[in-house]
Amino acid sequence: MRYQGSQPDIERWYNNTARRFLKRPTVTLLTRSGRSRPTPQRYGSSQAEIDSIVTNELNGIRFSAKPTYNPRIRTEGKTTAAVISGIPGAKILKIEIGKQRRPGKEELIDTLIHEELEARIIIRAHSGRSRKFTEMFTQGDRSIHLYIDRVIARYIQSLRRKGVLP
Ligand SMILES: [Zn+2]
Repeated sequence: MRYQGSQPDIERWYNNTARRFLKRPTVTLLTRSGRSRPTPQRYGSSQAEIDSIVTNELNGIRFSAKPTYNPRIRTEGKTTAAVISGIPGAKILKIEIGKQRRPGKEELIDTLIHEELEARIIIRAHSGRSRKFTEMFTQGDRSIHLYIDRVIARYIQSLRRKGVLP
């Protein structure tokens, strides 16, 4: 007796039986980019600098994916997630940090928080449990960035109060 179906068995079962009832789920990749207005001058960073900020200035934040430096992306940051049709939830695959519009740590901190918030908005918008976030995500960039900028401003203020930032 065989207890486990092989891949062809499962395919056959799907085609003969389940297809009539189940739509084959599809995986969609979602990407959210940081502000993409092109600027003539862009400032590079490094993985070491990003790692240092994540473990020091931003040690209060648990990132949904490890922020990775990628100078080839055309925006300051980029978050990639996967969602499966018909199933609530989203998986954050990548948080990439690109070159910045301004030099210095504060711009990087802003971008790191920005991308983590993009990730959390994707997760909440697809959780099936938050009308507010689902609506915000559907409305798109303007509405998402209004929210993100407000949260970042509050967070930067609290870092200043604690003396983490000047
Ligand atoms: Zn954004």
